[in-house]
Amino acid sequence: MSENEPDAISFRQDFPALDIPSEELIGYKRTMSEFNKTAKTEAKPDSCYICGKPMTSFCNSHTIPQYCLKEIDVDGKLLTTAALIGGNLIDSEVGIAGAATFKRVCRQCDSEYFKLYETPETLLSEPTSQVLGQIAAKNLLREISKGRLELGLHTALGERSNPEFDTMMAVRAVDMKEDEKAFKTAVRVGGSEKPSKAYHLVYYKLLPYVVPFAFQQMISPMADFNGGLINNSYNPSTNYKMEPIHICILPSKGATAVLMFRSENANRYRKFEQQFRSLSEQAKLLSIVKLVFAYSEDVLLSKKLPQSVLKNEELTYLARMNHNYFGFANSPNDYKKHIYETALEDHAINNLPDPPNLLLEEYALGNL
Ligand SMILES: [Zn+2]
Repeated sequence: MSENEPDAISFRQDFPALDIPSEELIGYKRTMSEFNKTAKTEAKPDSCYICGKPMTSFCNSHTIPQYCLKEIDVDGKLLTTAALIGGNLIDSEVGIAGAATFKRVCRQCDSEYFKLYETPETLLSEPTSQVLGQIAAKNLLREISKGRLELGLHTALGERSNPEFDTMMAVRAVDMKEDEKAFKTAVRVGGSEKPSKAYHLVYYKLLPYVVPFAFQQMISPMADFNGGLINNSYNPSTNYKMEPIHICILPSKGATAVLMFRSENANRYRKFEQQFRSLSEQAKLLSIVKLVFAYSEDVLLSKKLPQSVLKNEELTYLARMNHNYFGFANSPNDYKKHIYETALEDHAINNLPDPPNLLLEEYALGNL
C-alpha cells in the first residue's frame, strides 16, 4: 500500500430520500401491510402493562399528550421527519390521532395513571419525580411497543428474514428486557406522590412561547460535546447496557416546557452534563435541537414551518443522520475500531452542523 492510501475508510450510510414510482409504492405498501398485520397480532400483549388485568382491546395511547399536539397542529395535522428527509416511502404528514401512539395499556389506566402529566398546568413548573416517572413510563411503553412490533415482524418474515435483521433483532430483544425492567421503576415512581431519587433532572426550562415542534422520547447519544463516548451502540456484548436520556419538548398553554432527565443509575453522563452546564442558554437550546434531530425520527413538526426551515441543509442533514457505516481496513478489528472512531467524531455534538435554533423565540409559532 502506498503512503497516500488510507489504511482504513468508513462511510456513514444516512437515510436516503427514496422516491419510489407510485405503482411499486402501492405494491410495497400492500406487502408491508400484510406483514404488519401478522406482526401486530404477534406483538399484542394479553394484559395491561400497568394494572396487569387481562385485556382484549387496548387504548390508543399517545406518547406526547394530545393537548401539546393541539398547540401546534394545522387542521389536526402535523409533519413527520419524513418532511425533512424527503422521498415518498414514509408519510410526511400525520393526524393527531395517529401521532406517536402505542397500544399497551387499558383505557382506565391511560386516563387515570397518567392524569398528572396529562394536565396542561403540570408542565408549567419544574416536574416532580412523579411526573418524571410518568413521562419515563410513557417513553418506555412506546419503545417496548415498537420493539414488540419489530420482533413480531421478524417472526412474520420467517425464512424471508436475512442475517443482518436476525442480528439486529437479537440485540433488540436484549434492549427490550432492559426497557421492561426500567418500566417497572418508572411505573412505581410515576404512581407515587412520595418524592423519589430514581431520576436526575438535567435540565428544565419553560419558554414563554410555543415552539414549532413537539418531542418526547428517550435517545441514547453516542458522544458528548467533544466526542467522548456515552453509549457504544457497536458493543455486541449482551452485558453492555445502553444508558438512554429522556428529552421532552412539550408545548402547553401558550408556553413550551423543555426538559431532559435520566435515570439516577446512568453513570456515563458526567462529562456531558458538565459541558452542557457551561453553555449559554441559547447554546443549551441549540444542543437539544441537534440531539433531537440527529438521534430520533419521531419529531412532530408544525405545518406552519416555512420551506426555508424544512429545506434547511443542516436540519435535513441531522434528520438523515444514522450510525450505520460501511468501509474497509486491514483487519476486521481495525475496521471495527475505525468505524467506532469515525462515529464518535461524526456524533460529537460540537461537530454536528448547526440547524436553525427552533427553540428560540424567532421561530415561535406566533412569529412564523
Ligand atoms: Zn390497566
